Amino acid sequence: MCISKYLCQKLLTQSRITSKGTVLYLNRSFKKYSKFITGDIMAAKKFIGCLLLAICVQAILAADYDYSTSSGKGPNRWAQLFPNYCNGTKQTPVNIEVSKAQYANLGSLTMTGYETKADVDIKNNGHTFAVTVKPDTFSIKDGGLEGTYKLHSFHLHWGSDASKGSEHTVDDKMYPAELHLVHYNSKYANLSASLAHADGLAVLGIFFEVGDENAALQSFLKYTVNVTNRDSEIKGVSQTQTLKGLLPSNTDHFYRYSGGLTTPTCNEVVTWTVFNKTATMSKAQLDLLRNLQETNTTKLVDNYRPVEPLNGRIIQTTYKADSSTTAKPTGSGPNHLANHLAIIMALMAVTFKIVL
Ligand SMILES: [Zn+2]
Repeated sequence: MCISKYLCQKLLTQSRITSKGTVLYLNRSFKKYSKFITGDIMAAKKFIGCLLLAICVQAILAADYDYSTSSGKGPNRWAQLFPNYCNGTKQTPVNIEVSKAQYANLGSLTMTGYETKADVDIKNNGHTFAVTVKPDTFSIKDGGLEGTYKLHSFHLHWGSDASKGSEHTVDDKMYPAELHLVHYNSKYANLSASLAHADGLAVLGIFFEVGDENAALQSFLKYTVNVTNRDSEIKGVSQTQTLKGLLPSNTDHFYRYSGGLTTPTCNEVVTWTVFNKTATMSKAQLDLLRNLQETNTTKLVDNYRPVEPLNGRIIQTTYKADSSTTAKPTGSGPNHLANHLAIIMALMAVTFKIVL
């Protein structure tokens, strides 16, 4: 019955079950287990203590998660720990197979407020580096979305090295980091109310490659030193850069599909937009993220969920590859042949003139 004798005894020392009356009341409530309690108050206290401890441990396990493969709380266990959604059939992230994506003319996203500045709250919540924005400041619509979605917050997923980190993959390729801008449907009161509806959230996903420093990202990442420890937070930070700088240079080309939150409780309420074009951040910026602590003894890295099956879902793409935008291999194609003929004819003409 007891998960750990030590923990059990510790809990019993803190037990508030001190009166015989209380024990008898509990005894009646747990008739099934009366053989453990028969008149022996100490035995009853132990039994109830262990029961409470088991419930506590269950609750703690159910309320928390991490990205470890060995802790019992990692992605490989989420389907069991959070069965309401994490074992669903429309989970996120997914691998985007470019050749199977279906072209759809969804138009451009309209982004409002992305060129303004406001105060934000920045937190290391033990799972990610999260930036919560001022309510009703930023929103998106169009681009195939029904209605307007308000930005609630954004956060990142990253790897311990550049070979991994993103949650979505493209043709099985992982990127060093992925940014998620989480918007909730304006027809619902707030983010948590939106989680109960299939059209509740619209999240923008942006892949980051290692390259030039991202100035907009740096304006937030410079505060990583203030939130190194889990659950540390800095509030009311004034934006010095607009959020537009977080976006890739082209936001018209994106992938679209229906999925869910990539963290427990994995609610399948997200319309996903993953941009085709990547953005860059420097290695130094990635290192700022890698210096965050998940616990007192563990670095917060590799905070990505492995890809989930599509289960027949269609991924749409607004990017239609055609001959005018597809790079041609050097040395092939009719234009190349024509150039050769022109050069040969020119040489022949020069030679003929010289002979004459
Ligand atoms: Zn995320």
